[in-house]
Amino acid sequence: MKGRRRFLGQMAASAGAMAMSGKLAAASPEGGIAQGGRVVSTWDFGVGANQAAWKRLSAGGSALDAVEQGARWAEGDLCNPTVGRCGNPDRDGVLTLDASIMDGDGRCGAVAALEDIAHPISVARRVMEDTPHVMLVGEGAQQFAVAQGFEKRRLLTPEAEKAWHAWRERAEYRPQINAERRLRPGDKDNHDTLGMLAIDRNGRLAGACTTSGMAWKMHGRVGDSPIIGAGLYVDNEVGAATASGVGEEMIRNAASFLVVELMRQGRTPMEACREAIERVVRKRPEASKSLQVCFLAIDKHGEVGAFALHGGFVYAVCDAAKQDVLRASDSIYGEGA
Ligand code: ASP
Repeated sequence: MKGRRRFLGQMAASAGAMAMSGKLAAASPEGGIAQGGRVVSTWDFGVGANQAAWKRLSAGGSALDAVEQGARWAEGDLCNPTVGRCGNPDRDGVLTLDASIMDGDGRCGAVAALEDIAHPISVARRVMEDTPHVMLVGEGAQQFAVAQGFEKRRLLTPEAEKAWHAWRERAEYRPQINAERRLRPGDKDNHDTLGMLAIDRNGRLAGACTTSGMAWKMHGRVGDSPIIGAGLYVDNEVGAATASGVGEEMIRNAASFLVVELMRQGRTPMEACREAIERVVRKRPEASKSLQVCFLAIDKHGEVGAFALHGGFVYAVCDAAKQDVLRASDSIYGEGA
């Protein structure tokens, strides 16, 4: 009897495993081992950022170097109203940048509310490598950057300044779902972030997250992107996760850490992202109907998953087989909410 129960238990376990791998194959095309490495990024501009990162990865570079390069591309080469030097300012007309970087050994660095320095991700890496700290903010972060040789220059573009003046006419701050992006990619009212995760050919993980934060935020507001565990978390033993959307929800739920911990407990990347989104909904069911939260994750084998509160979240995947794949994530509420 005991033997039969054990046999039935084994049957159930392997049937469960089969069902799980079947479902995954359909839902997460980037399954299996990522030979030679893989890089994934949030949003459509992730395609360009991935390609910059892939140059490093495919030449045998580390995941850490790759994500820094990818993030620098988004901060600089692309004139994007949501990341880096072309970002929209806060409600006082001040452009402040947030960024974090982390590797799978737990080394990490971040800057928040950084002004007039074009590449916050590289300053974050210097914080990680050249200070005993994890995060520098505001004036102190800027002083450190200048001391490290970063150029200080006014970044606010005429377009961003014009958008700020236009916003002041109505002066409403409603951090809601960025439905505009679905209709008009690149629209100035959007608020997105580049979150990038990479695994290199040695199976080592790293991640970077960089943003100008939510446009028209209060001066001094810091979102999730520079907060380790909220906007980014990486652990070589398990995998990595990053986030985009209304950062207050990620901070409330320690969301990227949560996604990685769920993967540690056996969830696939997509299951972990979905469960974390469900947590966001459970905590604030009403608010979750009108704000966007998106998670992207990769496990230590290179399998990728994503999930969002609302439809419209896309992420880019790049590896040896494909350089410019853009995928739409599943969501709780779909496009219609
Ligand atoms: N998460 C970013 C923040 O809250 C913004 C975004 O991803 O849209 O600052």
